[in-house]
Amino acid sequence: AAPAANRSNNAKLVLLGDAGAGKSSLVLRFVKNQFIEFQESTIGAAFFSQTLSVDDASVKFDIWDTAGQERYHSLAPMYYRGAAAAIIVYDITNQASFDRAKKWVQELLVQGSPSTIMALAGNKADILDARRVSEAQRYALDNGLLFMETSAKTAMNQRSSFKANQHKALQE
Ligand code: GDP
Repeated sequence: AAPAANRSNNAKLVLLGDAGAGKSSLVLRFVKNQFIEFQESTIGAAFFSQTLSVDDASVKFDIWDTAGQERYHSLAPMYYRGAAAAIIVYDITNQASFDRAKKWVQELLVQGSPSTIMALAGNKADILDARRVSEAQRYALDNGLLFMETSAKTAMNQRSSFKANQHKALQE
């Protein structure tokens, strides 16, 4: 067999979640290791490509950052169809964003592909004193999702949340 280090993989990854939850910020942190306090809203969807090594394999991530606004909802299946992983982002300080995240999970469970790995990311974990959502871990467990709290601002867990997805995807 070829050494694992020579393996090259492509993975489509999609971010879903309410506008303002921090999807674009997580991608920016992942791709450029930057954080911008006043990130502009994504219109429709934005595409990024990033290669990094996971274990011994080099993985090219094709990342779709979708707009969270309801008016773009009908476009979403285009982005999550065929995705190796979907990261569903909510803001831990915003209950409505968690309710929206649950809707995404249910939509993907019904309409998505069973091979798409789903991860729930509770973002803005740097502002813990403003936490409003505490039932997410339980919800993730009950629905078979990966779960982690992230911060695009401090970079906490964001790299591992992308990597954890890919790690699992490669094992499928
Ligand atoms: P999106 O609409 O889901 O793509 O959200 P954005 O990435 O545009 O972020 C919305 C706002 O939340 C911006 O003002 C970001 O600077 C801020 N934000 C995003 N991630 C974090 C985070 O981890 N911590 C904090 N404190 N603010 C964040």
